[in-house]
Amino acid sequence: MSSQEDGEISSPEITAIGISFGNSNSSIAYTSGEGKAEVIANEEGDRQIPSVLSYIEGEEYHGTQAKSQLVRNSRNTIAYFRDYLGKDFDSIDPTPCHASAHPQKHESTIAFSVQDKESEAQNIVTVSEITTRHIRRLASSASDFLGKSVNAAVITVPTNVTDEQREALSEAAKAAGVDVLQMISEPTAAVLAYDARPEAILKDKIIVVADLGGTRSDMAVVASRGGVYSILSTSHDYETAGVQLDQVLIDHFAKEFIKKNKTDPRENERSLAKLKLEAEATKKALSLGGNASCSVESLADGIDFSSTINRTRYELLAGKVFGAFTRLIEEAVRKADLDILDVDEVILSGGTSHTPKISQNLQRLFPPTTRILSPSTLPTAIDPSSLSARGAAIQASLVQEFEKEDIEQSTHPMVTVTPHLRNAIGVMVVSEDVQKGLFSALIEKETAVPCRRTGLFAVPREGGDVVVKICEGLRDIKVSKKEKPKTNGKPASDDSDLDSDEDEDGDEEIREKVWKIGAVLAEAAVKGVKKGGKVEVTIKVEADLAVQVEAREAGGKGGVRGSLGK
Ligand code: ATP
Repeated sequence: MSSQEDGEISSPEITAIGISFGNSNSSIAYTSGEGKAEVIANEEGDRQIPSVLSYIEGEEYHGTQAKSQLVRNSRNTIAYFRDYLGKDFDSIDPTPCHASAHPQKHESTIAFSVQDKESEAQNIVTVSEITTRHIRRLASSASDFLGKSVNAAVITVPTNVTDEQREALSEAAKAAGVDVLQMISEPTAAVLAYDARPEAILKDKIIVVADLGGTRSDMAVVASRGGVYSILSTSHDYETAGVQLDQVLIDHFAKEFIKKNKTDPRENERSLAKLKLEAEATKKALSLGGNASCSVESLADGIDFSSTINRTRYELLAGKVFGAFTRLIEEAVRKADLDILDVDEVILSGGTSHTPKISQNLQRLFPPTTRILSPSTLPTAIDPSSLSARGAAIQASLVQEFEKEDIEQSTHPMVTVTPHLRNAIGVMVVSEDVQKGLFSALIEKETAVPCRRTGLFAVPREGGDVVVKICEGLRDIKVSKKEKPKTNGKPASDDSDLDSDEDEDGDEEIREKVWKIGAVLAEAAVKGVKKGGKVEVTIKVEADLAVQVEAREAGGKGGVRGSLGK
């Protein structure tokens, strides 16, 4: 930053926030003095602000107010536009906009035709322009809340965002008076939101971030190693998300309505729009309670509709969609060349992650040692709808003092620029009478190098002279069978949407993570270790993969040190 003494003009004060900008909803967050991220509610009190703008006689409505206009004023209401930014008309899927202003080709970009001025004329509003208006409204809500003008932000983007999309987003934000300090990926933001909590234990771990939104589900498998996050795999699905769950309820209630009234509310645009809004509200209520109602005044042909549904029925009706969510997560793990047993945490992010059944299915899929971070499985979980914005706000507070070039340097994805260890490196301590020791990983696979780790390892039984073997560890999955007690009747099972772990004989399959010892990289002798004592081993891997090892009796002096080639 320039200083007065240099004779330069000082830069204006930067007030930066975190923005999560989704197709369905957006959120804004800031960090308080103690570095804690807080989500900001807009003037209507919403923390999840629908990414929707609507125009009535020249007046602009935003967020929830605009979303409710999808019933009466759908043609002048622009929704689901985020994914069109920076895209070519021929490459987009216009389906999400079928009940709002339609996207159209306009010169080399995408636009909407709406009556956004007081006159009756239809105006062309490009997707960039509508994004600018949306970001302006978000920034204005944040400015009102903070009592000072917001002029910068860190914005989250999906992992498959293109350079053109980044550029378009940056330009659109700039036009709204918001300088984009950095764009961070949505899964990184979610991991950051959790890891920035004071109670977080920062250890090496494999995390699956499942971002389940309204129109898309994005998966990312992340290796967190010594505070460095590396994305190991990503996948995206546009057919399994919140709207598919809404559709289940829309169809259910429509059938009920048809039965009584012989008319299908889905055939009339306005009736369908009304039912859609109510079905979504019913779905959200079912995430909290066992029962929820759905009431729509004058749903079709002037007939009111009112009904209730319980969670069990909903879960049965939506079983296929829930099963698809589970499969997406399984596939993401497979794509990262990992096993379900390798996953330490699953972070459920995005609005749809509030759904209890999705987390329960994951609890059954993963071993009990995997933490499923969602509201229904962990009371201390962070609200999944706010994770992206919180992560972005934390990042904003970290980078807002940096020079632009330094920030750009730090945005390069670690995955592509740093080499990683292909196998784990660990330790096996053996003695003369115990030749085969237990292998313990000290540096996990996928750790970015250079890296250094120290650990304490128990020595076999009586102590004495021991040999510390530094080996590569290859993770393997051991499958064994546990015979199930035979019963006359079949055990009741509601595993309909999950693959069962049982084979044809009904025996339970037990899968466990075991280490196969790979190449021995080094051996070090430590003499006269006390009975019950431990050895302290430090392994350092250089950027060129050269390994340095140090071993000594814990608490003792001296020790053995050695280097190995690459
Ligand atoms: P996308 O970009 O995929 O459209 P988004 O990131 O903009 O999504 P989110 O707020 O993450 O939006 O997700 C929106 C979805 O979450 C909607 O389908 C909404 O109905 C759903 N949702 C929000 N709250 C709940 C809840 N409590 N229970 C179930 N679903 C919910």
